[in-house]
Amino acid sequence: MKHFDVVVIGGGHAGAEAAHAAARMGVSTALITMDKSGIGAMSCNPAIGGLGKGHLVREIDALDGIMGLAADHAGIQFRLLNRKKGPAVQGPRAQADRALYRDAIQGHLASQPNLTIIEAEVIDIDMTSNQVSGVILAGGTKINTGQIIVTTGTFLRGVIHIGDRQIPGGRMGNAASVRLAQRFDDLAAPLGRLKTGTPPRLDTSTIDWGKLENQPGDDVPVMFSFLSKAPFAQQVTCGITHTNERTHDIIRANLSRSAMYGGHIDGVGPRYCPSIEDKVVRFADKQSHQIFLEPEGLKTNTVYPNGISTSLPEEVQVDYVQSIFGLEAAKILQPGYAIEYDYVDPRALDARLSYVGVDGLFLAGQINGTTGYEEAAAQGLVAGLNASLSVLNRDPVIFHRTDSYIGVMVDDLTQRGVTEPYRMFTSRAEFRLSLRADNADQRLTDLGQELGCVSDKRGGVFAEKMSKISIARGLLCDKTWTPKQAGGVGIKLSNDGARRTGFELLGLRDVTFTDLVALDHRLLDVDPVIGTQVQSDAMYANYLARQDRDAAALRRDQAIVIPPTLDFERLGGLSNELKGKLQAKRPGSLAEAANVEGMTPAGLTIILAAVKSEKRVA
Ligand code: FAD
Repeated sequence: MKHFDVVVIGGGHAGAEAAHAAARMGVSTALITMDKSGIGAMSCNPAIGGLGKGHLVREIDALDGIMGLAADHAGIQFRLLNRKKGPAVQGPRAQADRALYRDAIQGHLASQPNLTIIEAEVIDIDMTSNQVSGVILAGGTKINTGQIIVTTGTFLRGVIHIGDRQIPGGRMGNAASVRLAQRFDDLAAPLGRLKTGTPPRLDTSTIDWGKLENQPGDDVPVMFSFLSKAPFAQQVTCGITHTNERTHDIIRANLSRSAMYGGHIDGVGPRYCPSIEDKVVRFADKQSHQIFLEPEGLKTNTVYPNGISTSLPEEVQVDYVQSIFGLEAAKILQPGYAIEYDYVDPRALDARLSYVGVDGLFLAGQINGTTGYEEAAAQGLVAGLNASLSVLNRDPVIFHRTDSYIGVMVDDLTQRGVTEPYRMFTSRAEFRLSLRADNADQRLTDLGQELGCVSDKRGGVFAEKMSKISIARGLLCDKTWTPKQAGGVGIKLSNDGARRTGFELLGLRDVTFTDLVALDHRLLDVDPVIGTQVQSDAMYANYLARQDRDAAALRRDQAIVIPPTLDFERLGGLSNELKGKLQAKRPGSLAEAANVEGMTPAGLTIILAAVKSEKRVA
């Protein structure tokens, strides 16, 4: 009978990252998936990254994971979101060629000597007392292992909905995983039901591109991986169009036929990624909604219309799509659909993503109630590292809210749970000024080296970068300048007589590294990439001290009692969803409010101010 140290069930984004992490930790690993060719498949939008999600990809990359490298390999349009805002909230995003992305992931997995890929359905988990001992494949074969990572995504009792048609399936074209779901019933695991949707795919040759507004990528593309310098694939332009009143009329007239509105789906969907039916109902006063027409790759005729996911019947999808400017003759290649599936309440997991009460059982990805490739991959990494550390009898690795978005997500999931599909946002991170996408390697690569999951190549690149940063900071800090000297190169300061280091000057608004080069010619030798990095560090240096003070103050304030009379509905600045959750839960203290799902640091500050003002009035 075969034995592996770690067995990963599923070859989606969580499974690929989990298996790669375990294998590079040096333990024998098997990835078992229903469909080998589907490893690394993007079930929905052909894009990686975005706000908050881009941070996760950088953190995975800092620990030598594969998502960032694959996205750089497959990227056909790179855009840095929030470019005009500060680096803390900027999010790298790339539209990807689906086939190139899948090939890149499969290539990275194939190059891992400790990893074996097996095509099969896992139908059960074998256990001896409270310790996993193996997995059973359809057909009866058993594979022995002491560590199992379940990453089955939307497959557990998945049901696809198109109008009133219901098809059992994990995603379009794939069977659902029903027998494995029964194992979770037997464990009495806390299960819930969630849903998500995807838009119809269009044939590019039937779109009137000439009529449409274009959206090109950035002139200077920003890569995901700290190892990549420039895109590999040819870059493309996307189109932009909009829904209109006629589109909305068609959708409104057919709402009762939508799976979501016709009462066929019980699961809760992602509020942040609403279907077009949802948008038309919830934002009834809006006359149009934007749609990005994103080619799914360089060699395919499929286009992904981002913004119109749906579960309406196919004929209604044709009608509303063809009511849209530029899409009058558009042909649908695959209808949009919604999928409903089981998830496990992640509060049943500990910070290693291990199921409490069953030794050796880890869960990662959409099975834990999240949505998104990046969230799945980051969880896969956490589970893969911890499963292998357990094999090696070493201490677990725990990510914290203060060191990473990975830590924020794991803490949110395991402490607060989910009531809707969870996705990452920068607003979820209270320490976002220090948790930037640009410094993910400085936060995590050392840790990865200690763990043993970082290759020599990455270690070398990181060491070289840190040495250059240290030299640049040395040059910036070993001289000071008067306001008059700074004024000589156009840096305007109040004439306070204070001497400032170059690093302090760089932290001032509107001062750039180039300004400082004029002041100190030695800085000419600094690589511009390093200059930008040091500038980000300088820009946030003052804020970081304040952030630390705020964090300490917030910790003190956690014990503050919220009076039962406080009317959350009346608090300006809180979203309606959050107000609803607060009214329903009625937290008795600020600490309890912090644990309400969707709570943000800004939300807590608003509640704190309201409590203080109520006390003053009383
Ligand atoms: P998946 O990528 O689903 O991978 C699951 C893997 O498990 C597959 O390889 C499958 O073959 C394997 N598997 C399942 N059961 C078994 C078994 N018993 N034995 C062996 N192998 C098994 N995310 C967004 O961010 N935005 C969106 O708009 C969005 N829309 C979506 C729409 C649809 C219709 C779907 C299906 C997903 C959507 N997602 C969206 C979610 C995104 O695709 C997932 O969050 C992400 O792919 C989850 O990754 P995962 O690794 O957890 O699971």
